[in-house]
Amino acid sequence: MIKAVYVLLLVGGLLANGFVFGEGVGKGVMKIHNKAITIDTHCDTPMALLDEEFDIGTRNSAPKSRVDFPRMQEGGLDAIFFAAFTGQKERTPENTENAYRLAHQMIDETYKVCNENNKMAEVATKSEDVIRLEKKGKRAIYIGMENGFPIGTDINRVQEFYDRGVRYITLCHSSNNDICDSSTDKKGPEHNGLSDFGKEVVPKMNELGMLIDVSHISDKSFFDVIELSKTPVFASHSSIRSIAHHNRNFTDDMLKALAKNGGVIQICLLDDYIKDPDTTTVYFQKQKELRLKYNKFETMTEAQKKELRAEWRDLSLKYPQKLPTVADCVDHIDYVKNLVGIDYVGIGSDFDGGGGLDGVADVSEFPNITDEMLKRGYSEEEIDKVWGGNFLRVFKAVEAFSQK
Ligand SMILES: [Zn+2]
Repeated sequence: MIKAVYVLLLVGGLLANGFVFGEGVGKGVMKIHNKAITIDTHCDTPMALLDEEFDIGTRNSAPKSRVDFPRMQEGGLDAIFFAAFTGQKERTPENTENAYRLAHQMIDETYKVCNENNKMAEVATKSEDVIRLEKKGKRAIYIGMENGFPIGTDINRVQEFYDRGVRYITLCHSSNNDICDSSTDKKGPEHNGLSDFGKEVVPKMNELGMLIDVSHISDKSFFDVIELSKTPVFASHSSIRSIAHHNRNFTDDMLKALAKNGGVIQICLLDDYIKDPDTTTVYFQKQKELRLKYNKFETMTEAQKKELRAEWRDLSLKYPQKLPTVADCVDHIDYVKNLVGIDYVGIGSDFDGGGGLDGVADVSEFPNITDEMLKRGYSEEEIDKVWGGNFLRVFKAVEAFSQK
């Protein structure tokens, strides 16, 4: 629902302008930041690419848009995963085909904008591409797929999307699908974790060299994947449940299992996943009422969507939201470091899908995270690991397994 509402607001251009840009960091910080290979493993920018008015080759601004090639360069971001996201709908053949077409369309657009801006960016498919492109001063654009809905129950489609350059699949989104149970399905578990079909998908992804993304999936689904996967797994955009008590975040037991598996969790920069919402504010209460009133987003008529947009706009203007800060975000990195070690944590912004904090409103402000880690005494080596080293270790292991 968060994403559904966010997308609606994005399309309507209605988000309140409550985000503060960072003051900029010192040269010393930038030097360390630029030396690191920096990778953001999740953004939903392909949705914005479907809007003809959006030009990713020019500088845009937050909150309307949080990722483009000039701002990636400004923020010293070497690589990013563009997720072809499809919202989960009722699993009818027609809805599955629509999701399948939409995923292909977003992948087509990703290739198209990279070709049009080939001095700045290139589509990347191998772990080593980021290093090769960084030397040329270009951004590496990897492709992921958020939600296995477009796969339906056709195992051949896993290979088909791999062949199109997709290197990870987030097994499900906010509702259960044919692959597994979600952490946030209102109806509760349906398969008790991975479905029988999901138990075919995981080995297929191993065989092809695709990263298995365990963000969004239920705790039981996560443990099923850990048991079944022959390679380390990763969470492209998830945070820590002991800090922000959202079901979508990782428990300590999950973090321990992930570390044992050699995987990595990429901290998600979305407000409710970083900090528990302040439930005492009028904004929170009103927002809750709106969510209840419009809880069937997927089946809403255009007139109802228009009504929701108007009500949400009034709410955001009346009660500007206070977002979590860079320090709140680094608390999650600290938590993983202290519980299981620095080798198992990275960053997956969820920009253009709801992500964005006070001080990290877009990709150009990523150096603020490096600044905060330095202030907390992180070494350069640790910073390198968080920004890309840990994720590349997992990516390489996944590739190596497929080449056996
Ligand atoms: Zn997501």
